[in-house]
Amino acid sequence: ANFKGDQSGDLSPRQTPGVLYSKAIPTPVPEPKLLAWTEDLAQDLGILKPDKEDVEILAGNKITESMLPYAACYAGHQFGNWAGQLGDGRAITLGEWENKGKTWELQLKGAGPTPYSRRADGRAVLRSSVREYLMSEAMHHLGVPTTRALSLVSSGEEILRDMFYNGNPEYEPGAIVMRTSSTFLRFGNYEILAARHEINNLQKLVNWTIDKFYPHISGENKIIRWYKEVIERTASLMVEWQRVGFVHGVMNTDNMSILGQTIDYGPFSFMDDYNPGFTPNTTDLPGRRYAFGNQPSVGYWNIGKLGNALLPLFDKSDELEDAMHVYEETFWGKYYEMMANKLGLDKVEKEDQALVAQFEKILSTINPDMTIFYQLLTNLPKDLSNEESILNYFEESFYEIPKGKEKASFLELIKKYQDRLEQNSISEKESLGKMEKANPRFVLRNYLLHQAIEELEDGKSGLFEKLRTALKDPYSKNHDEFFRKRPDWASEKAGCSMLSCSS
Ligand code: AMP
Ligand code: MG
Ligand code: MG
Repeated sequence: ANFKGDQSGDLSPRQTPGVLYSKAIPTPVPEPKLLAWTEDLAQDLGILKPDKEDVEILAGNKITESMLPYAACYAGHQFGNWAGQLGDGRAITLGEWENKGKTWELQLKGAGPTPYSRRADGRAVLRSSVREYLMSEAMHHLGVPTTRALSLVSSGEEILRDMFYNGNPEYEPGAIVMRTSSTFLRFGNYEILAARHEINNLQKLVNWTIDKFYPHISGENKIIRWYKEVIERTASLMVEWQRVGFVHGVMNTDNMSILGQTIDYGPFSFMDDYNPGFTPNTTDLPGRRYAFGNQPSVGYWNIGKLGNALLPLFDKSDELEDAMHVYEETFWGKYYEMMANKLGLDKVEKEDQALVAQFEKILSTINPDMTIFYQLLTNLPKDLSNEESILNYFEESFYEIPKGKEKASFLELIKKYQDRLEQNSISEKESLGKMEKANPRFVLRNYLLHQAIEELEDGKSGLFEKLRTALKDPYSKNHDEFFRKRPDWASEKAGCSMLSCSS
């Protein structure tokens, strides 16, 4: 690495033209304490459980000889608008770690200001750090592509935050997560170079990305083939989010991984009651740009912005425009495959597509608990035929019992579905197998996170530890103490759906 005129480790906020990153030394914290360590990830990395001295590293208090701490420079489109230079305002990469032929970027989130922190402090509160730590691990164990978290350390520092943006700032405990991925490159890293007309740097970054993270792509038309693969991965990720009911909350292009992973955990939430309009992000109202049901089309929009950034590397725009078709093709192909799995169907033909659409429409009107509904569907008793018994069976998933027309269309849907299952060309066992793998039984609900954080702030880690265990096997029945609907106190109507968001 060559930090060029940046040897000082200058942390003052500034524009940094001509570079992809800037040196950023972590700012020490008073009293680091290890709250969580991810054993299986540590084993992949070949790192032993930290002793007291190592915790200083995880807190940003100690920099070793082999580290080259830096913050990345990127830009982005935020809520549809060009936002110019952003960069990592509170994530500092310590360096790259190698083990058994694999490499990981090791990054501290919340380790203090960087040249990209603008007016903010570069810190993260315990609340948001616990959320990122637990949720990235939960997504990993659900099988959804994601960055991971190696450690969670409380800093012993109090940080000023205005959680509800109501002009009443309060001190909150701080924490630092060490997160890992082979790279944290995002669409915004390419966008900034195009916007600054740094075409040479753009070409270099693209080549480097392909060589290092897409090594199977080489030879002719490398860039367009790579772009298509990024599109495929992005579309696949959107399908995965739909499968488990995950809402990211801030799908700005600076939060879109070039690897197609879930990154930058902020005001995310799993859905409790099924609702395509649901967003956990208070700053996304009333537009709901990043609501659950909009995520696939936002993914497409974002891919378009990445394509624009790559334009200077092409003679004409045709190829890039053509490549965009890959998004829809991938999305719909994978979407129906995913829905077939969730519903235990052998395949999805034209008529089945109508059935899938009917499921969506009816779930959107009666708003049952998504996770519980699909669990009940997975275990649907064969002899369930009369209307009252069907309704009773699904009651566990209802926040409101459907009545009148809604009740009638729900019953019609279930009957139609039962008939369709009869037509399956696969065995019942096979069908069940598909459903059990596609439908999680444990999801890390927002209110559970909220409760675990409140406890941790009181020095109690009971629920936090229970959740850490449960999220490791989300498809099993081993953690059924959490198999219940969101309680009333945590509902949107009670003004609580947007608990514990970002910062
Ligand atoms: P996000 O919405 O978390 O993706 O953040 C958008 C931008 O603001 C990113 O460049 C972040 O690094 C930066 N940012 C967010 N919170 C802070 C903070 N507390 N201090 C410095 N920069 C921040
Ligand atoms: Mg971000
Ligand atoms: Mg409704």
